[in-house]
Amino acid sequence: HAKANGKNNFQLFNQELIHHMEKKLYLETSLSKAVEEGQLFLHYQPQIDIIQNKIVGVEALIRWQHPELGLVAPFDFIPIAEETGLIIPIGEWVLRTACRQNKEWQKAGYPPLTIAVNISIRQFMSHNFLTKLKSILLETQLDPQYLELEITESIASDVTYTKKLLRDLQKIGVKVSIDDFGTGYSSLGYLSRLPINKLKVDRMFLSELNDKNKAVTKAVIALAKSLDLEVLAEGVETDAQADFLKEQGCELVQGFRYYKPMKSEEIEALFK
Ligand code: C2E
Ligand code: MG
Ligand code: MG
Ligand code: MG
Repeated sequence: HAKANGKNNFQLFNQELIHHMEKKLYLETSLSKAVEEGQLFLHYQPQIDIIQNKIVGVEALIRWQHPELGLVAPFDFIPIAEETGLIIPIGEWVLRTACRQNKEWQKAGYPPLTIAVNISIRQFMSHNFLTKLKSILLETQLDPQYLELEITESIASDVTYTKKLLRDLQKIGVKVSIDDFGTGYSSLGYLSRLPINKLKVDRMFLSELNDKNKAVTKAVIALAKSLDLEVLAEGVETDAQADFLKEQGCELVQGFRYYKPMKSEEIEALFK
């Protein structure tokens, strides 16, 4: 009996594995067509200065409207895009769309915003990233000071290359922030020598306002100040979190407490 059961379990496992692989292959295949078939679009989440009480930027967040599966979340397809290399054309599409949108808002006379764009390590490390970025800025005519690239701590892997690229980005006037800060493994010594502009405190540290999380958040805010960097807290959902951040001198926030990610038309409605 036990043996038969074991076999059944194995078959079940096998079926699940096949199902999983088929689903992944299916996603991969359809993702490769997503750009040209216009299934990708961007949502924008406002970033607020809580001292001046105004929206100072928006983060562009990718969305995929799949013809059969409906809306697919970035956590379900960005890893596949990274693995397959599709992140290169997709990332380029995101950059171009975000820069174009920001330029359009400026032309329409809205107060100038910084647009923050998430950049995968694979995209950041690709040999012609800087060339592509420059040509997108030229094509869209967006002033580079209104573009911010969000990278993660994992870029720390290749020190020489990263430093050179970050320096080049500072030269052209594009800003750089470290996303999900506190969840990676970068050494503070290393970080303090990188030419970056901002730390984004990971929302994990705000999700539960216990003593440990408060201590980490305080430390990151203090670190940013001492390195002369800006600091933004992500995932602010409650008044208690907002009050705590204000007390700690964190001026920039982003989260459902203020605005959810929204369509470009909804951003426009905010300014009308
Ligand atoms: P992220 O860059 O850290 O973006 C913040 C995520 O937190 C977004 O999820 C946003 O919707 C969510 N969020 C914002 N405020 C709150 C809040 O108050 N509470 C909670 N619970 N969540 C909040 P989203 O849009 O699902 O994106 C997930 C991740 O996917 C992003 O994390 C980023 O790492 C990646 N991603 C999104 N768009 C792109 C893109 O265009 N390119 C690349 N390479 N990655 C992207
Ligand atoms: Mg981000
Ligand atoms: Mg983040
Ligand atoms: Mg993230």
